[in-house]
Amino acid sequence: MNNEIKTLTISNYNKFQCIADKCKYTCCDGWDIGIDNDTYDKWKGDKAYDILENIKITECGNKKSFCVKKETKERCPFLDIKGLCDIVKSYGEEYLSSTCRIFPRIENDFFDRKELTLSCACPMVVDIIGDNDSEVNITSEVSSDLIELKIRDTIVSIIKEEGFLLEDKLIICYEMLLNEYEDIYDEFLKKYKNIQYINERIKDYSEINLNIYDGLEEINNLFLDVVENYRGVSILKTLLEDISIFAENANIEVLANQWDKFKKIFDNKAGKLLKSCILSKIYSSCVCEDIEEMIQAYEMIIIEYLLVRYAVFLRYSSNRNNDIVIQDVKDYIVAFSRIIGNNTEAMIEFFEDGFEDSILELGYLYFIALF
Ligand code: SF4
Repeated sequence: MNNEIKTLTISNYNKFQCIADKCKYTCCDGWDIGIDNDTYDKWKGDKAYDILENIKITECGNKKSFCVKKETKERCPFLDIKGLCDIVKSYGEEYLSSTCRIFPRIENDFFDRKELTLSCACPMVVDIIGDNDSEVNITSEVSSDLIELKIRDTIVSIIKEEGFLLEDKLIICYEMLLNEYEDIYDEFLKKYKNIQYINERIKDYSEINLNIYDGLEEINNLFLDVVENYRGVSILKTLLEDISIFAENANIEVLANQWDKFKKIFDNKAGKLLKSCILSKIYSSCVCEDIEEMIQAYEMIIIEYLLVRYAVFLRYSSNRNNDIVIQDVKDYIVAFSRIIGNNTEAMIEFFEDGFEDSILELGYLYFIALF
């Protein structure tokens, strides 16, 4: 029996290079930075007091967790005024915690393979994805018997399908995940690999009468709720604050008049980039054995897409020239990857508080996605 573990990488994985102090969205600012137990023990054993004095310990029962001592909104205390890391300068890159050493690389281990992908929370990754003309793939795709990878492959094949709107494909995949929640099996997945079936389902959705005013109002409220704790964060302020004020004072009727024209321009200019980033996220995060976790991971990808699109719409509507700048799209992809994708636990809590369930109803998603 061949027990060799294959290492598979996402397209252009090796092109990533951190630009450190030249990065305008440094990963050392604007979110919590966790420290793994092994790294903490190593620092403690080495009596690295200059590091330890900046580490916060949280105790929950017998379990201790560690993170960098700072408010979520603040810069990492190890970041110097030039944007370089004091730990790297004093001890070398190997001394970093695994989060800091690995980001934005993501490693998923399966019994027969290791998959290496990249996070869109890093602007360099989004640039690499945006510069790449070919479709995002995991290199030398090897079929697997694992149900989670079969489900992921079915989602990927639907998203890659040409001739449908991205939002329609996103909703169809969500429907697939919800439908046979308890019992996803090969025959069921085959149904969703049939283009004719996808076509019929999308046609069914298009016949549902959705109210554009209600849909816009709901996504406007969702946007404001999700960004509430982030719009003042220094690194995200220029991206979020002015459009949040615009959203607070939004005239839904005026916005509704601009929506269809915006969607066409958005699909033309940013559709390919968004599709590639979504594929990248699906490869990285739709890999859970537990179907409930798989649904949650996929749901985050849909919400990220909808809020990136809505943030760009707010910028488009608040600018007099009514145009879309691709750099804005990239910046919002980075921002919402951090606010939602890298913050899944907080988002799950947010949905449980607001919707009484971490898994959103299909009807709610098409209400805010397909108007
Ligand atoms: S966000 Fe990316 S490019 Fe910027 S500092 Fe972090 S790893 Fe480097």
